[in-house]
Amino acid sequence: MYTGTLFIISAPSGAGKSSLIRAYLNQNPQQAKVSISHTTRQPRPGESHGEHYYFVDHKYFESLIDQNSFVEYANVFDHYYGTSKAEIEQSLLQGINVFLDIDWQGARQVREKMPQAKSIFILPPSLKELENRLIKRGQDNSNVIAKRMQKAQAEISHYNEYDYVIINDDFDTSLNALSTIITAASLEQAKQTIIHSQLLKDLLHNDFN
Ligand code: 5GP
Repeated sequence: MYTGTLFIISAPSGAGKSSLIRAYLNQNPQQAKVSISHTTRQPRPGESHGEHYYFVDHKYFESLIDQNSFVEYANVFDHYYGTSKAEIEQSLLQGINVFLDIDWQGARQVREKMPQAKSIFILPPSLKELENRLIKRGQDNSNVIAKRMQKAQAEISHYNEYDYVIINDDFDTSLNALSTIITAASLEQAKQTIIHSQLLKDLLHNDFN
């Protein structure tokens, strides 16, 4: 069993998912990491290979599918995105929590293969605010933004497949909510039993007579 927890985090683009994950990691650098996905899409300005994604071509991505290297993969906005097993297993075994920043299609596949994963959906406070955030981000042209807005509602329609929902209106409140979910998961009995096995042995088996 893993002592780290796998967290699936989904949201429509612009809901603030990446900023929340980044802020959590800044506060808890030793305890968690974000899994770096493979994608066939082009890097946006400021994105780099091995930091935001592993940017690969279609042929290489398909060879990874053939080698059964992915826990999940999906076609999102006409590009492949996938999570490799190697990215997550080692960390979970070491007790490090792993965040999967993936869409609802990937979330379904991960839930099936790893039912112990906890899933969190992040919602924007309104569609208008979502659009504002995409425009402010300045990474996409207006055609792409219009396409992302169309897809946003499709992504949102899957929110009820998730264990937890955070409405990201106030950033600090949302970050606090995310931390609370992560803390609660780390305190689950099955995990505590492994992490504190020596203490539990002492508490249960020490003879006072
Ligand atoms: P973006 O291109 O804006 O970075 O991501 C577009 C969408 O792809 C987001 O909803 C993001 O969560 C999703 N995504 C990123 N990596 C993966 C992945 O490895 N698997 C799946 N299924 N979706 C991913």
